[in-house]
Amino acid sequence: MTGDAPAGRDITDIFVIGGGVNGCGIARDAAGRGYTVRLAEMNDLASGTSSRATKLIHGGLRYLEYYEFRLVREALSEREIVWRNAPHIVHPLRFVLPYAKGLRPAWMLRTGLFIYDHLGGREKLPATRTIDLRSAPAGKPLKPGFSTGFEYSDCWVDDARLVVLNARDAADRGAIVETRREVVSVRATDGVWRIGMRDAETGREEEAFARLVVNAAGPWVDRIMEGPLAHREPHHVRLVQGSHIVVRKLYDHDRCYIFQNADNRIIFAIPYEQDFTLIGTTDRDYAGDPGAVAITDEETRYLCAAASEYFTREIGPADVVWAYSGVRPLYDDHATAAQEATRDYVIEDEKIDGAPLLNIFGGKITTYRRLAEAMLEKIGAGIGARGAPWTEDAPLPGGDFSGSAEDFANRLRAEKPFLPEALALRLARSYGTLAREILGDAKSMSELGRDFGAGLTEAELDYLVAREWARTAEDVLWRRTKLGLHGAASSAEAIDAYLKNKIKVGTETA
Ligand code: FAD
Repeated sequence: MTGDAPAGRDITDIFVIGGGVNGCGIARDAAGRGYTVRLAEMNDLASGTSSRATKLIHGGLRYLEYYEFRLVREALSEREIVWRNAPHIVHPLRFVLPYAKGLRPAWMLRTGLFIYDHLGGREKLPATRTIDLRSAPAGKPLKPGFSTGFEYSDCWVDDARLVVLNARDAADRGAIVETRREVVSVRATDGVWRIGMRDAETGREEEAFARLVVNAAGPWVDRIMEGPLAHREPHHVRLVQGSHIVVRKLYDHDRCYIFQNADNRIIFAIPYEQDFTLIGTTDRDYAGDPGAVAITDEETRYLCAAASEYFTREIGPADVVWAYSGVRPLYDDHATAAQEATRDYVIEDEKIDGAPLLNIFGGKITTYRRLAEAMLEKIGAGIGARGAPWTEDAPLPGGDFSGSAEDFANRLRAEKPFLPEALALRLARSYGTLAREILGDAKSMSELGRDFGAGLTEAELDYLVAREWARTAEDVLWRRTKLGLHGAASSAEAIDAYLKNKIKVGTETA
């Protein structure tokens, strides 16, 4: 890599490594405060841990047992903020926790939930209540023998879309967001960072200069330290694998379950993508390449067995229609068991040759906005403060409507009566008011172009390329949407061909 020292105007204020929820959340907050920002993601946005979560915007009931009160309080109060600002992709949910003989006593569950309800920030979400599983609909799919249950509130988010909407807003506020750009070297000279990047598609290398670097590489945070940064003390992250299985819908009501296991862990069963139930997760230390993580047979069997302890229907590996696995980039607090390692985030700041570097360890999707605010304080201390916190009351792109996503879907159908109900709902729950950009002035389905299956049209693909950095069928089928689960995966080749052509034409005319 070559290049002279840059002129002052070519030096970006902040360079962010990593396009997960944390990197994109920080880029958005910083751009909104007037900093110049550049973000590089080596693969697709949210291709790391941020599309592989249980997808809960939650306080983390379980963390109370580990006395993580700071984290739980902050996370609880974030639930309604994230919901308010992204009502298209965040939805309130009720969770049913069955009391199980021989595990945590009922008084402990009741006390935990009382604290959970009152620790902070719950205004709209309904409170905990005790239910009789022998008569409540939530008891129906469960084995006989469970009589007492506790029902409480948390929220659910489309995690991959949360990332992309933060990236979109960051870019709308002036940030440069680039995907398929791997950061390969990071060196400081006289207070300026020189960052080397490689284009994953063309192999072309280029350089950027910045006053401050944010290492938001999630599970790769230590690898960035070891490799591109050649850092002295890289070993702070504890990689903990967590996997989920997806099976055909196990029950008809809209409640989720939180089940206690005999090994003291808990697992969730959540209605997913209308036709499915999502079951997870596991907790096991992981030593391999974070990019190659995959569910093991042992994890599949564990999740099937744990769910089968509760559901009348026996669930086996043959029922699994899809599975995914991710790596939690936890701060290594030297806890003995993986499930006990802190879920809180830690920001380490330092200066190398006069240039500030901020590394992030841990964190939850739930608290990404607060992590960004904490980061912006450190950025202010590093290169001078600008602006003030602003994201608490700022809707994410498409989130500027009142009522629920279902209400908004009805409004869309009133504007575009040709839209099938299911498609209107999916567009409302994915894009909110930005669905109007996809639909344009179309007056019939055929005006949205070819349908690649499950209602995925050319108009939507064009939008995803132009506004959401989509480049491959995988980006579209498994991250921007989950249409891969609904049959559109069989069109992956045709989608790839369409996208390739679209991107080529876009590059030629740019
Ligand atoms: P990532 O999303 O991994 O982003 C880091 C990015 O950096 C990656 O996209 C990677 O490609 C990129 N990168 C790495 N190296 C380079 C390089 N050299 N150049 C350029 N880019 C690079 N949280 C919740 O709040 N609720 C939940 O229900 C929940 N459930 C979870 C369940 C599981 C199984 C797991 C694993 C996590 C869960 N989490 C949950 C936690 C949450 O998902 C993570 O804390 C969060 O996604 C981490 O985001 P991140 O941006 O730090 O990392």
